[in-house]
Amino acid sequence: PEDAAAPLGANAVAELEALATRHLVQPWESLEHLGQEARTLLTGAEGVYVRDARGNRLIDGPAGMWCMQVGYGRRAIAEAMAEQAMSMAYNSPWYSTSPVAAELAARIAEMTPGDLDHVFFTTGGSTAVDSALRFVQFFNNYLGRPEKKIILSRGGAYHGSTYLSASCSGKERDKVYLDFAKDLVVHLSAPNPYRRPEGMSVEGFCDFLIEEMEAKILELGPERVAAFIAEPILASGGVLMPPPGYHRRAQALCRKYDILTISDEVVTAFGRLGHWFASEAVFGITPDIVTFAKGVTSGYVPLGGFAISRAVVEQVAGPENKGSVYSNGYTYSGHPVSCAAALANIRIIEQEGLLEHVREIAPYFQARLRELEALPLVGEVRGLGLMACVDCVADKQSKNPLALDKEVGGRIDAHCQELGLVVRPIYNMCVMSPPLIIEKPEIDRLVEILRQGIERTQDDLEREGLW
Ligand code: PMP
Repeated sequence: PEDAAAPLGANAVAELEALATRHLVQPWESLEHLGQEARTLLTGAEGVYVRDARGNRLIDGPAGMWCMQVGYGRRAIAEAMAEQAMSMAYNSPWYSTSPVAAELAARIAEMTPGDLDHVFFTTGGSTAVDSALRFVQFFNNYLGRPEKKIILSRGGAYHGSTYLSASCSGKERDKVYLDFAKDLVVHLSAPNPYRRPEGMSVEGFCDFLIEEMEAKILELGPERVAAFIAEPILASGGVLMPPPGYHRRAQALCRKYDILTISDEVVTAFGRLGHWFASEAVFGITPDIVTFAKGVTSGYVPLGGFAISRAVVEQVAGPENKGSVYSNGYTYSGHPVSCAAALANIRIIEQEGLLEHVREIAPYFQARLRELEALPLVGEVRGLGLMACVDCVADKQSKNPLALDKEVGGRIDAHCQELGLVVRPIYNMCVMSPPLIIEKPEIDRLVEILRQGIERTQDDLEREGLW
């Protein structure tokens, strides 16, 4: 029901906001502003909407953090979790497993491309990436080639917040005050066709990226390069879509030099691009490892993991491989409540034909958003499936992102939240990745509010003499 979440009284809201500002440390917390401002206090959610503590209903533009696939308020998922919690809330993965973990592993093995038949469960996306990278490390060390451990990643990538996954992330701004495994990770250029070198065609840019990758492999020595990790579409980097053919050519290079490929599908799997997994269906590649999280449970409860190729596992498995132990695991690996939620979530996606729905409605979503390119502040709108990014620029000619101190994405989000839409601001960009159940009227409303938010921001910038 729409009114399930009654607004809180003004005093209660003020009190809760004060508690949050005083005690909560949130992701990417600005300590400079600690204690000054609470994040939006949400108290309810239904379908594609969230509701703030003051009773305002907002379209959830980024689907939480790219995770709320089937929409909020799904009783079937809540009941599956409750039933599992009552029958067996937990089992130790050290000596046991559960029917739901077994069934989910089998389902995911079926959904993933090629021979990716073995599934390892973690607690989220960062731990999925970390565990996949740890497997690669273990694999090469066990096979007696300990020098083969460099991971190739890309600028603009985001792979998580554990030490190793964060080391693979490619955003410079996040690296100022933290240390990283610099000896293990080498970054290639961001595959961002919009900001490719001037005068270069998109095809030429693809050649450039692949040539750069091969040159780097040869410079490092193929015997030292263990893996290439790539999001099919760089999500938090601003929905960067590599040029056509890039993934296939990158995979061919990896095969040539005996480098394992990891497709980080934490965002792109479970329907975001209209398929269970996008690597093969959309990009024509069969990686050795695929990571997943977020959409596997529609964010109802944390879960992540990776699926890995049988051919890779077989090289280190079996009685002839004495002492072969993959020493990596979590108390909550294959948590039964998470697995039950995932199975219920997958049933909803199937029963409601949500993969087909995304394939049908995505062209409309993308076309409507592209209309915003007519606005002076908008340099490019790009995306695929139900993933899109509005990239704001100082002027369309130079494509220069607006100076960060103007916080254009944040300003647009603030206006949009007043108008009834949550935006995911990233520097000068606004990301949109709504729940998969979104319909045309809600897309129309989303685009209309975003347009107004951008126009109001433009007015503000002009008034303040910033633009
Ligand atoms: N990989 C990708 C591609 C992601 O977008 C994210 C999170 N946004 C992660 C990994 C990390 O996932 P989590 O936040 O669940 O640890």
